[in-house]
Amino acid sequence: MTTALEFKLTGIAVATDALAMLGEICEHFVEHAEVQRSGNGAVLTSEGGTATIFAQDHKLMIELACPTERALQISRTIVAEHLFYFAGEDPLELTWSEPASLALLPNIHEATVLRCEDVTPNMRRVVFHCAELAPFIGGDMHVRLLVPPKGRAPIWPGVRPDGRVAWPEGDDELLVRVYTIRAFDVDRGEVSIDFLQHPAPGVKTPGADFARDAQPGQRVALLGPGGGSLPIAQSILLVGDETALPAIARIAAEVPAGTNLQAIIEVLDGAEEQFLFSEGSISVRWLHRRSYPVGASAVLADEAKKAIAGLNEDTFIWFAGEKAEVRSVRAFLKDRRHDKKNMYVAWYWERTPD
Ligand SMILES: Cc1cc2nc3c(=O)[nH]c(=O)nc-3n(C[C@H](O)[C@H](O)[C@H](O)COP(=O)(O)OP(=O)(O)OC[C@H]3O[C@@H](n4cnc5c(N)ncnc54)[C@H](O)[C@@H]3O)c2cc1C
Repeated sequence: MTTALEFKLTGIAVATDALAMLGEICEHFVEHAEVQRSGNGAVLTSEGGTATIFAQDHKLMIELACPTERALQISRTIVAEHLFYFAGEDPLELTWSEPASLALLPNIHEATVLRCEDVTPNMRRVVFHCAELAPFIGGDMHVRLLVPPKGRAPIWPGVRPDGRVAWPEGDDELLVRVYTIRAFDVDRGEVSIDFLQHPAPGVKTPGADFARDAQPGQRVALLGPGGGSLPIAQSILLVGDETALPAIARIAAEVPAGTNLQAIIEVLDGAEEQFLFSEGSISVRWLHRRSYPVGASAVLADEAKKAIAGLNEDTFIWFAGEKAEVRSVRAFLKDRRHDKKNMYVAWYWERTPD
């Protein structure tokens, strides 16, 4: 069944190098949408609707078509945020046939901390009450967690006329970190997020600290969901560290019976292993960072490459973890010409130099 894309909007972006920007858009969105590129144009199709983009001189002509007004507003914000991100330091002017003027982002969901528990010594689960759970069922599984400053009533973000997010500033600035919805319970109106506790001496870790200190009744917001939908394939290789473990666990729990899952998961030691439920067949190999030789690096990426080398093209490759390791796995898959539609390779955190 095809859904009517009745809600439409056009936009014009004036950029320094419109064609290069179109290339970046196609390159980036291939993991989130079906991308059809032809010459100076591209059509991006996803469940949220279609974006048709043409590069002409210094302009990108954009047409959005979506099944609902809400999806249209979300698509506009996604396009706007990405265009300004790709423009970097270069000037960019973005106007729409109807300017955005929303007091609140359409995909923001207020939530309240209900309780916390330690799943393992270093993985802390925070369970939130959220009145609107429908958006979290199926589809994308990642959210941006927004935490207001301690002791202040939250001011949630709205939308600027060009479609970008209007973030509160100054004393109202929010803590923003990306996490995975590990589980939800529709009857109880609950969503759970697992936060890795990764403290290092002298380093601030606000996201991990939020989970350590969270108190029942504390107000936050979940922005999304977006990114990281359930891979659809008969065989899936899942590789990741603790930050990817909630997503791996959720994928394992949601795949249909008959799916073959092979997982390689890097954790600190045996105490950090978790039971992964699945109706598919699953084999998990745990790597313990504590047992690595001194100076070992990129062990997870190397193990992933060895595993990939023995698999056929039809296997969906899912890899998430530290940025440098993700880049090397992505390059390995590119060399092997692995079909981009059959992989998800994303960095979940970045190691900062000591
Ligand atoms: C799509 C997506 C989904 C994610 N899902 C989850 C999830 O479900 N659970 C989860 O725990 N994380 C998840 N992450 C990772 C999480 O967003 C990052 O680890 C984030 O940096 C944590 O924020 P922080 O404030 O604790 O630390 P930051 O302020 O971001 O960083 C502080 C310091 O900690 C270091 N650091 C950050 N993460 C790690 C780490 N994992 N190990 C060692 N050092 C680290 C940084 O290099 C920096 O030096 C996800 C990320 C993405 C992009």
